[in-house]
Amino acid sequence: MIKKIVIFLIFFILCINTVDAADIVFPSSKHTVINSYSTFFFGNVREKETLKINSEQVKIWDDGVFVHIVPLYYGENKIKIESTYKGKKHLQTYIVKRNKINNKSVLNYPLPKYIPKKNGIYLYTKTIKDNSTVRKGASKSTQRIIDLPKGIVLYLAGKKGDYYKIEETGDTEFWIHKSNIEKPVEVTKKFYAGINKTAENYSDKLYNYTKIYISHPVLYTFKQEGKILKLTLYGTSYSSDSEGKKNTEFNFNDNKTVLGYDGHYEEGCFIVRRAKTADNINKYTPLYGIRIHIDAGHGGHDKGAYGPSRVNEKDINLAISKKLIQLLKKEGAKVSYSRLNDKYVKLYDRVNMAKENNALILLSIHNNSLPHGKNPYVTHGTETYYYNDNAKDLAVIIRKNLVKDLDLKDNGTRKASLALNRSTNPVSVLIEIAYMINPQEYTKLKSEVFQYKAALSIKKSLEEYMLLLQK
Ligand SMILES: [Zn+2]
Repeated sequence: MIKKIVIFLIFFILCINTVDAADIVFPSSKHTVINSYSTFFFGNVREKETLKINSEQVKIWDDGVFVHIVPLYYGENKIKIESTYKGKKHLQTYIVKRNKINNKSVLNYPLPKYIPKKNGIYLYTKTIKDNSTVRKGASKSTQRIIDLPKGIVLYLAGKKGDYYKIEETGDTEFWIHKSNIEKPVEVTKKFYAGINKTAENYSDKLYNYTKIYISHPVLYTFKQEGKILKLTLYGTSYSSDSEGKKNTEFNFNDNKTVLGYDGHYEEGCFIVRRAKTADNINKYTPLYGIRIHIDAGHGGHDKGAYGPSRVNEKDINLAISKKLIQLLKKEGAKVSYSRLNDKYVKLYDRVNMAKENNALILLSIHNNSLPHGKNPYVTHGTETYYYNDNAKDLAVIIRKNLVKDLDLKDNGTRKASLALNRSTNPVSVLIEIAYMINPQEYTKLKSEVFQYKAALSIKKSLEEYMLLLQK
């Protein structure tokens, strides 16, 4: 017992001592390496405490938070933090090292050369796993075209580094990484997939389907052109005419807007699925019966961004998401969600949950941070992200309403490939409501009233979107 008391006292004394200093939340360590021309120091002070960083007076915002930009020079940067509380000065020193980045080694690295296949032969292969990504170029940084399932037959035109170029696509360059395919074999004849011109159409409550009979699974792509969804099946020929086309196109135009869509192979068929709008959308309750998945970003050990008084993004995302879920349920929407508490959920599980619930719409709720070298007083506000064209309208509506309803800076709607918005089904949008690292927006984000208003604004956008689908 005495031992316990002693430990407690030591702990207590240690706590009292550290309270003397201002709470520097970032950088999290007194010795760091940051290879950028600037960084930010953020944290919080007590009431009436003042702060200087490298002799410069630091602005203290509401709730005692501060975010201060510090320029960095090559080598060792000694950053002195002087806080004054009740007439007592306290000094902390941070050492930030900035290294010269040597680009030479990268430039001298030989770029892989394109090696075409031999003339007169064909290079045959198959995808060996699901989510085999096809890209626009021979590197991971190039645009994703489609994630193919296992078992797709491909013919290859050549190789560059670890990527193979797919032959069927002609002038459009499609590439696949070697880890996604069987070791290619040289064959003397190319087999086109036989395809039946007449497709079978059917539907259920949620989707319209088209069943296309095909002899073996081939590469496919979807493209949206206005209100039309175009499917291309590569390396095919009509069974009635062996000299037929090498690529077969199908056009779908069943809604006034293209909603969620996908395709899969099943026992000699390729099945295209397109989400339907509700048959009768009521002007006053446009969300009634609509399936919506709400994804509160991050959770558990994945804290996301954090603010100058140590509130985590994951908690703010959850608070807003819970309010939104309640509002949507009240309108009669069929809501599913990735999490309702502070737990870790894998990115792909979040998307799969939305799919399993046959959600028409998937919204991922986030709040933003910034990398070193950026200024949170310049870059802040609302951004929305979509990847597939079918989500652009919704992304724009949500952003515009948030900017207007919450009086935030408009940071635009952007196309970006993120795990939560990459899927073509459901219609998927990722929302960055505001910046955790901008002191004014951070204060707002912590307020229940602001969180409620944000949820209300997003609900309003969903209603607007549903009504737009009727036009
Ligand atoms: Zn986030």
